[in-house]
Amino acid sequence: MTCYKGKYHDELIANAAYIGTPGKGILAADESTGTIGKRLSSINVENVETNRRALRELLFTTPGALPCLSGVILFEETLYQTTAGGKPFVDVLKEGGVIPGIKVDKGTVVLPGTNGETTTQGLDGLAQRCQKYYEAGARFAKWRAVLKISPTEPSQLAINENANGLARYAIICQENGLVPIVEPEILVDGPHSIDRCADVTERVLSACYKALIDHHVLLEGSLLKPNMVTPGSEARKVAPELIAEYTVRALQRTVPAAVPAIVFLSGGQSEEEATLNLNAMNKLGVKKPWRLSFSFGRALQQSTLKAWCGKRENVPKAQAAFLTRCKANSEATLGIYKGSAKLGEGASESLHVKDYKY
Ligand code: 13P
Repeated sequence: MTCYKGKYHDELIANAAYIGTPGKGILAADESTGTIGKRLSSINVENVETNRRALRELLFTTPGALPCLSGVILFEETLYQTTAGGKPFVDVLKEGGVIPGIKVDKGTVVLPGTNGETTTQGLDGLAQRCQKYYEAGARFAKWRAVLKISPTEPSQLAINENANGLARYAIICQENGLVPIVEPEILVDGPHSIDRCADVTERVLSACYKALIDHHVLLEGSLLKPNMVTPGSEARKVAPELIAEYTVRALQRTVPAAVPAIVFLSGGQSEEEATLNLNAMNKLGVKKPWRLSFSFGRALQQSTLKAWCGKRENVPKAQAAFLTRCKANSEATLGIYKGSAKLGEGASESLHVKDYKY
């Protein structure tokens, strides 16, 4: 058997390519109810449906923001929500030229026999859920696998198990019309060097692509969402130019040219740091057969949250903060960001949380 050639073949390729449009990227607004609760509690806002809806409406209706985006990842609840005026969020996004996406994994659990490493749940009933989400307007999906770096981790077992899970998820998505975003996140936690992160990233990505090919995934109709290659959170920081060089080299060694776009997660970097690192990669004059863009969660929303604080009168200020980050990241996908964004409160603040759950 060869790779996926079913009825969604052309549509998957077109949607994956669209997401990689130069100047555009993804807003990851798919925080689970528990995770969004932590964000809301940081600004003393209660984690109830109306407040979660209000935050998402603020983001999706920011004047001028949608042209900087090609996709938004939603949590199931948000896929079916509407604006206060009753317009489905899915329609707001589609009219703005943004493809709705959906988080389909069900979080991580400990992988028995390892030193606290994890595997991601959610394969049971996944095909049926994908069909339901496709009907509701979603055209791409996300599944987050998590690996960690320590002197003895990631274990080969965790690498194989997570690569296999990502591959099974990816082909199920494609058979049901959703472009799979393959996200093997290597956590930044720890004192390790950038060389160690590069080595682990290369081993993990090569295992993922071996599994994706074994499972007949159509690479042209898929996207990769990796961590950037950086020193660990407890090690000395390095310049964006070095991160760019290490990251692009790791990708050159492991990601097939058939993959249309690589959309980075921000992984606890500050808003400004994540943008500068992406910009440096797009400025690098080396071989890059894929588009390099963003799929940021924390690094697109932090200053917006701080400006909003759950108050209706703060919405214009919060939307201005969101627009600033959207424009800066749009420029970074083209390598033309000058570091000139007006920094909102919290824009330079590290967003690192140890052992982060999404
Ligand atoms: P961060 O950009 O906050 O790391 O999250 C992106 C994401 O979607 C993780 O799954």
